[in-house]
Amino acid sequence: MSGSCGGARHVHQSSSKCGASQDSARNGEEAKGLLDVHGADSIIKEARSHDYYHTLPAFCCTRVKWIVMGLIGLLVYIRTLFSSPSLHPNQTFVGEKLRSNGTHDFKRTVVLISIDGFRADYLDRGLTPHLLDISKQGIRAKFMRPIFPTLTFPNHWTLITGLYAESHGIVANNFWDPASRSEFHYSNVKSWRNASWWFGEPVWETARRAGLITANLMWLGPTKTSSGVETTYFVPWQDGVPLNEKLDQIISWVDLPLHKRPQLILAYDQSLDHAGHTTGPMSSAVNRTLQQIDSFARVLHAELQARNLTDIVDTIFVSDHGMTDTSHPEFIYMDDILGAEGVKMIEHEDGWPSMGLRFRPEANETHYLQTLIQAAEANGHKFDVYTHETMPKRYHFSDSDRIAPIYVVPKIGYALTTYEQGTAGMSAGSHGYDNMEPSMQAIFIAHGPFSTVAKALQRSVLPASHLFSCLNAGWHAVSDATHVIEGFQNVELYNLVIKLLGIQRYAAKNNGTSGFWDMYF
Ligand SMILES: [Zn+2]
Repeated sequence: MSGSCGGARHVHQSSSKCGASQDSARNGEEAKGLLDVHGADSIIKEARSHDYYHTLPAFCCTRVKWIVMGLIGLLVYIRTLFSSPSLHPNQTFVGEKLRSNGTHDFKRTVVLISIDGFRADYLDRGLTPHLLDISKQGIRAKFMRPIFPTLTFPNHWTLITGLYAESHGIVANNFWDPASRSEFHYSNVKSWRNASWWFGEPVWETARRAGLITANLMWLGPTKTSSGVETTYFVPWQDGVPLNEKLDQIISWVDLPLHKRPQLILAYDQSLDHAGHTTGPMSSAVNRTLQQIDSFARVLHAELQARNLTDIVDTIFVSDHGMTDTSHPEFIYMDDILGAEGVKMIEHEDGWPSMGLRFRPEANETHYLQTLIQAAEANGHKFDVYTHETMPKRYHFSDSDRIAPIYVVPKIGYALTTYEQGTAGMSAGSHGYDNMEPSMQAIFIAHGPFSTVAKALQRSVLPASHLFSCLNAGWHAVSDATHVIEGFQNVELYNLVIKLLGIQRYAAKNNGTSGFWDMYF
């Protein structure tokens, strides 16, 4: 484009060049025209056209002018309707730009909150009116799809790296790493905080590289990445911290003076997941916790509103996965399939409720693999058996040595165990199953300057969409003005956060879709 007359860059230079070339072209055409004018045909044509226009009545000439002007006006109007609207002020509110809340200056800020185990359809229980109200003021997704396996540690790292498990290395909540000959286990806090486990770049590292102040309130991951970067403020994960204390911490960060205030705040809470595991997704304990989460969201929103920050701070509520009832599962005993000897040959067992199996070197792995595959077929596929080669492509779960060579994946309603392990460890609620299962889906709710722009753009794309809501593809503008976008995979979240902060040029490689969020900006 820069070399053409239409190029926007170097306008003065280009226009003079283009002007010169246009002049010479015009001269050439006039020269050709001169030759034609002297031809007999041209003389006749010119005479006829001359006669025609000069024989038209004056009022007709005026009418033609009005029609032409009317047509031009109509074209300008149509162009205005369908051309890009002028930028919303929120679209340019990024980077070093400041916006006052009336008393203080603020930079664009993102508060990303993960509510562990918040199943997408929990929002339909009538117990979270404030979260729904926030989503009506902002936007929400029908669901957000977790990665496989639908477990806490892999998905929390995906949410802030945009990477599938095979790329970011956290392939389960517990797994054996053949390279370091050591085990990652969620219960070993000291071990899992070590940077060597966590591949990829979390969004807080990207933000730090871009020069932003960041804060992490218990979001799971390393204290420091392997490249030595850490958040400006860090509160390590610990169990049992009440929601109101977390709320106070978030607000105290927001209230810091400009030069100390984080632009990216991550926060994590596990109370809902804990209730789901302990008593199941349909339990009163889950419902009570939902109300507490809703109250937390209400107060957070009210605190931001009181500070006149709802057009400065983007608040995003997400979750890592859903929850399914496992109070009465059908147990599948590995001993019944592999025999007692076969079970003894298992050296490492990863990724509950799936079983990533590593057999001892002396074991006949091929034999046990065939036995498992035959058992899956004989049992009507209550579970599936995969190798790296046969793993469903949509899992993006094969290209890593940390993924055990044989993976047994139960269907919803089934649980894998051995006679030694028994059934006592089975909780009333579980997750980790196929990431297409409805009960495994997570939430996405966003409110702030982002959702204001997204809604404004939605209206400008189809100016008359309020009259033709059926044309509103991808959106569901219902009578109560709730904007619900289609479900999407959580690997897209990383790119949203860096776009909100205006730091795309610092983006790390990730599995998000290029341009995925463009229609909302
Ligand atoms: Zn979780």
